[in-house]
Amino acid sequence: MTRRSILNEPTLVLNRSWYAIATTTVRHAIRLMFVGASRAVSATSYETHSFDTWVELTVPPDELCIRTVSMRILKPEVIVLTHYDGVPNKSLPFTRRSLFKRDRHTCQYCGTQPGAAQLTIDHVMPRSRGGRTTWTNCVLACVPCNLEKGSRTPGEARMSLGRTPEPPPWTHALEIPTGGVPESWTKFVSDKLWGSIGA
Ligand SMILES: [Zn+2]
Repeated sequence: MTRRSILNEPTLVLNRSWYAIATTTVRHAIRLMFVGASRAVSATSYETHSFDTWVELTVPPDELCIRTVSMRILKPEVIVLTHYDGVPNKSLPFTRRSLFKRDRHTCQYCGTQPGAAQLTIDHVMPRSRGGRTTWTNCVLACVPCNLEKGSRTPGEARMSLGRTPEPPPWTHALEIPTGGVPESWTKFVSDKLWGSIGA
């Protein structure tokens, strides 16, 4: 993976009640701060800053930061919205990318991780028999397992699923920074909810 520009790295967004609701880009986070719609949260003290006080903070010499012609600005890892108090939509749309993340690039029948090119989307109840493309009816299967199962149910094929397929937690919709989940984020979102990082 090529390194993203710091302005395209994700910032965690909290609603007015300090509840994590989304990620956005550093670029957009700074714009929200600039117009007064959000404040930056200090990664160490958890004090909040307006755009004006944030840009005056001293950036440690070897810290990754945003550079303008005349300034070095700390990257806001977390922002808190000043007005919005909504909570995230809990249901994530079904996508191929999200399915790979939910199933951690692992065949749900035999547990192997043969790589994305060798993984297929299996309909637990086959499509030919009315099975739908949903979180609860789709799992990753390696090519041999998919061929073995064919258009049968797991019971008919005498194959068993490692676990019952369920919709992934909403936090799978969040972008993860290139360097992994920052310490400051773990105060707002439990480690268990992140899923497989970078998948
Ligand atoms: Zn398999």
